[in-house]
Amino acid sequence: MKRSNFSQAIVIGSGPNGLAAAVELARSGVSVRVLEAQKTIGGGTRSGELTLPGFVHDICSAVHPLGVASPFFRTLPLASHGLEWIQPPAPLAHPLDDGTAVMLERSIAETCETLDEVDVKAYRKLMKPLVDDWENLVSDLLAPIGIPRHPITAARFGFRGLRSAEGLAKSLFKGERARAMFAGISAHSLLSLDQKATASFGLMLGIMGHAVGWAIPRGGSQKIADALCSYLRLLGGEVVADSPVETIDDLLSSETVVLCDLTTRGLIKVAGHKLPDGYRRKLERYRNGNAVFKVDWALNNPIPWKAKECVRAGTVHLGGTFAEIVESENAMSKGRNPEKPYALVAQPSLFDSTRAPAGKHVAWSYCHVPNGSTFDMTTCIENQIERFAPGFRDCVIERKVTTPAEHERHNANLIGGNISGGSQDIRQLFLRPTSRLYSTRSRGFTFARRQHRPAAAFTGCAAITRRVPL
Ligand SMILES: Cc1cc2nc3c(=O)[nH]c(=O)nc-3n(C[C@H](O)[C@H](O)[C@H](O)COP(=O)(O)OP(=O)(O)OC[C@H]3O[C@@H](n4cnc5c(N)ncnc54)[C@H](O)[C@@H]3O)c2cc1C
Repeated sequence: MKRSNFSQAIVIGSGPNGLAAAVELARSGVSVRVLEAQKTIGGGTRSGELTLPGFVHDICSAVHPLGVASPFFRTLPLASHGLEWIQPPAPLAHPLDDGTAVMLERSIAETCETLDEVDVKAYRKLMKPLVDDWENLVSDLLAPIGIPRHPITAARFGFRGLRSAEGLAKSLFKGERARAMFAGISAHSLLSLDQKATASFGLMLGIMGHAVGWAIPRGGSQKIADALCSYLRLLGGEVVADSPVETIDDLLSSETVVLCDLTTRGLIKVAGHKLPDGYRRKLERYRNGNAVFKVDWALNNPIPWKAKECVRAGTVHLGGTFAEIVESENAMSKGRNPEKPYALVAQPSLFDSTRAPAGKHVAWSYCHVPNGSTFDMTTCIENQIERFAPGFRDCVIERKVTTPAEHERHNANLIGGNISGGSQDIRQLFLRPTSRLYSTRSRGFTFARRQHRPAAAFTGCAAITRRVPL
């Protein structure tokens, strides 16, 4: 990267996007300081003993397909700084009531073996060309919006991805198994599945499952933040925890650029008075998204899945049929708490013995709820696990519940419990947070596009890493 016309940078927030931006600046010779509000660094990539001593839980993110695939991350020597990716044998299991599971395997052929025969051809035709060209696809999709460098692949993806997950699944697949799995993966959008572009989530994460796997970091997601910090320090950067920024006024100087790893609300809070009125109003109109209700468990045993193949997967999607998942996400997006929620389960200790004392296990699950919901979903989530793993509750030694409000208390970016940096509806998916993308177009401000690109590349959807005016 070319050296910029400033010599110092301050990054507000030490989430993976903030740290990625800090590393990129430090690599280009800028002196960087990261200020983090919380006592621990890492934002959505923190781990801790949430239940009992010796049980390491991921407080937020657990599974990182795009962490592995990120073109930026692949340029960093994170392995030398303690980050080791573990690949569970299968990225995903989707159990059904008949005691079997649809499996997203690394191999398309093996995945097809778990689908209804009628859908094998359609699934292969959908996935194979995109999986074969995944590197080009990722480099375009994780870049800021613009003319794709690989237009044929991008068009192939966009043609299907811009549809609703419900529409695409119904038109492509005839059997229940492919439809259910596709609905479960697409539901990562945190949207009702009849919304445009929700299919892009199912496609992208499905492609990643085949191409790079859905990996977990040995020792927990904290290792991602720790490795980024360690590399940043080697480059001369500094990370200061327990330093909430109330205003950027004290941080600005002619030599310093400030990057905010914040949502629009966070940006307005610390820098609103520096932003042009029109731009600020646009930020105020940015739509927040739905929320998550999460439970972490310390377990005596692995989860006793009826479909035994579920123990090969790092992630398990619960919700049963296509229709049930559509209904659950629809209820949530209409402001209701689903009684039988679609729930995601991460079970990292099956593949990483550092997460729990010998013979014991950890798992987390979250379901989607309306933003700010105060309803306790613990029983609903555990009922869904019991449905596919009878006897689960007998394995629980301890549980820790995190409500939407608690998510926000430990990370101001998670407004009302939203984990995706705002709604990912079709407009905000592309024009995030405004049509100016990462530019504030303020006087004295030069947008350096490449600075945010690595940051956005981490999850590709969640954060707004924003340069604010000098
Ligand atoms: C329960 C849960 C599960 C998730 N699961 C996954 C998953 O499995 N895979 C995946 O890829 N993603 C997952 N995510 C999403 C993932 O965590 C985010 O996409 C990612 O953390 C976003 O990174 P970020 O750097 O943009 O922001 P964040 O990680 O949110 O970091 C922002 C940081 O800024 C700090 N901050 C905020 N305001 C201030 C201020 N005024 N001054 C100083 N510091 C401030 C915050 O404390 C925080 O540390 C999950 C999120 C949650 C909550």
